[in-house]
Amino acid sequence: MFTISFIPAFKDNYIWLLTLGQRAAVVDPGDAAPVLARLEADGLRLESILITHHHADHQGGVAALLERWPAEVFAPASESITGCSRPLRGGETIEVLGQAVRVMAVPGHTLGHLAYLAPGALFCGDTLFGAGCGRLFEGSPAQMAASLDRLAALPEPTLVYCAHEYTEMNLRFALAVEPDNPDLRARVTLVAARRAAGLPSVPSTLAEEKATNPFLRCGEAAVIAAALQQAAPDRSKTAIFAALRAWRNNF
Ligand code: ZN
Ligand code: FE
Repeated sequence: MFTISFIPAFKDNYIWLLTLGQRAAVVDPGDAAPVLARLEADGLRLESILITHHHADHQGGVAALLERWPAEVFAPASESITGCSRPLRGGETIEVLGQAVRVMAVPGHTLGHLAYLAPGALFCGDTLFGAGCGRLFEGSPAQMAASLDRLAALPEPTLVYCAHEYTEMNLRFALAVEPDNPDLRARVTLVAARRAAGLPSVPSTLAEEKATNPFLRCGEAAVIAAALQQAAPDRSKTAIFAALRAWRNNF
């Protein structure tokens, strides 16, 4: 299995770097410069590029990387992705640095959004964040709620490698939803300490997300009650999710 580290990009993006010896793959290289610098510094050869969705902060560096390295580009078939050589729809198993990686369709943030599942490690782009989830730019609340359900059904120790450092902001919202959740309060303290020390808040585990992420807790009484206060029309998971997402958009 490859080793996972991160390359910071832009204001709050993480480009995940997978390495096995001198072989490398990257997930969502929105910017090529920091990736090229890291590959150079560590003497790595780029073999594979994994793209979760079409937004520029996730694929903007692909063209420049391909000028330097003949890498294969795994990406959503239904989205416009520079240099895509391996179009995917979800359900496939691909090989990345000799490791089998499962491809999951997780529509919501965008319609073709993919997540990549290696043993114990989920690369979920802008679908699931630390204590939050992506905005619905293209999909419906029902689609996103179903996508999050499928991610939440993965093994609890799975590490969640999302694409942005949004956790502290998301935790403030989560506390507004569930002020009495003790796991959430503990996570706020933990994440504040990590960020103060200059460390990323991610990856988290799915177990942590299920205990503290309101968007994975649409069946919990406290979350339902909070969403009903925000004018959720009924207690269905989709209605609760939609009310939370709308609330978060204006938070
Ligand atoms: Zn995005
Ligand atoms: Fe993004």
